[in-house]
Amino acid sequence: LPAIFAPARPVLQKIEQAGFEAYFVGGCVRDTILGDPIHDIDIATSAYPSEIKAIFKRTVDTGIVHGTVMILDHGTGYETTTFRTESGYQDYRRPDSVTFVRSLAEDLKRRDFTINALALRENGEVIDLFDGLADLDRHLIRAVGDPNERFHEDALRMMRAVRFASKLDFVIDQPTLAGIRENAPLLSKIAVERIQVEFEKLLLGQRPVSGLKDFIDTGLYRYCPGLVDQEAALSQLLVLNNWQLENAQQAWAMLCFQLGLSNKQVAGFLKRWKTSNDLIRQVKRIIPLVAGLRDKSLDAMAMFAGGWDALHDANQVAKLYGWAEEDPVLEKRYQTLPIKSSNELTIDGRSLMADGGIKPGPQLGRILNDLTTAVVEGRLANNRDTLLTAARTLAEEKG
Ligand code: ATP
Ligand code: MG
Repeated sequence: LPAIFAPARPVLQKIEQAGFEAYFVGGCVRDTILGDPIHDIDIATSAYPSEIKAIFKRTVDTGIVHGTVMILDHGTGYETTTFRTESGYQDYRRPDSVTFVRSLAEDLKRRDFTINALALRENGEVIDLFDGLADLDRHLIRAVGDPNERFHEDALRMMRAVRFASKLDFVIDQPTLAGIRENAPLLSKIAVERIQVEFEKLLLGQRPVSGLKDFIDTGLYRYCPGLVDQEAALSQLLVLNNWQLENAQQAWAMLCFQLGLSNKQVAGFLKRWKTSNDLIRQVKRIIPLVAGLRDKSLDAMAMFAGGWDALHDANQVAKLYGWAEEDPVLEKRYQTLPIKSSNELTIDGRSLMADGGIKPGPQLGRILNDLTTAVVEGRLANNRDTLLTAARTLAEEKG
């Protein structure tokens, strides 16, 4: 048994000692066999949720109707799900009902891809009913069973296929790819939030160009918000050298930039994708900085207004296009700004009124802006007396 599972092993043993079956399943098994880091450990068991709760003192009901209970053990949580089958799928998304079963095979059969349908026993034995190990070896994403049926049951699986292609740098098996092409329109039945999660993971994978190519070729993009008429712009991303992005805001900023959206259109586009307002705010900061890097017009004030995080994100996006500055050079430029935030100024609106004799009103705001710009650009020292004197002069000039 791989070392990473050692702390979780007693949990499986305890379930088995109570007379049930229990296995590690899903992404943690797949990623461990690939030698990739894992983020959480999922357990599948023949025990019903009530039975799990009787065995362990500390549990949390995270999704009890779907059979999921979280077991807390030595500070770690293990999502533990009763073997189940799903039936119905009348609306191409959620199953109409979940039925608990006592057979591991039934549970593995309802999983999406062969590489996600592996189970690992407490003694290290791998249960591989669909040739998932061979597919891991061949770097192949292949539907469990008939692709058409599986995508009819749950159309989100098509987005999951392209996201795993990108995340793992795997190839989608031909019949599975054909199934996606045929069923792509069903994606319109899926909640945008769920598509968004998979698409973002695609953009952040280790080979986004390969997942994106399948996303375009199969026509999935046509059923995503704001992309139906964007095949040309999306395809241009495929000819850029294999790029890699670090976080969600970089991914969405890159997409918006590539689609040529104005800062006004960005909010509308991202709202259709149901991203958070926080993300929209970040993307709107990043995009003008990418344009500044492209035009070599990035000045002190633009860097000050954007802030370091957005500047770093913009530089990562600019790397795709060959417009980036060397990271240390850009950081140095930013670090040498006289101030990084307006609260580092030695004056503010209050002191301009109290000590500079400036009257409240719109003029006050304009003077404060002019002084900020002058300090950021190094034309005035960030010194209280200097700035108060300059404020008086500006007030006289502007009358
Ligand atoms: P990640 O590393 O991104 O978490 P994962 O494989 O663990 O990858 P999850 O979305 O966490 O993906 O799902 C856990 C497991 O549940 C999958 O490995 C798969 O076996 C099964 N699964 C998840 N979503 C579906 C689906 N829509 N249809 C069928 N099986 C699914
Ligand atoms: Mg997971």
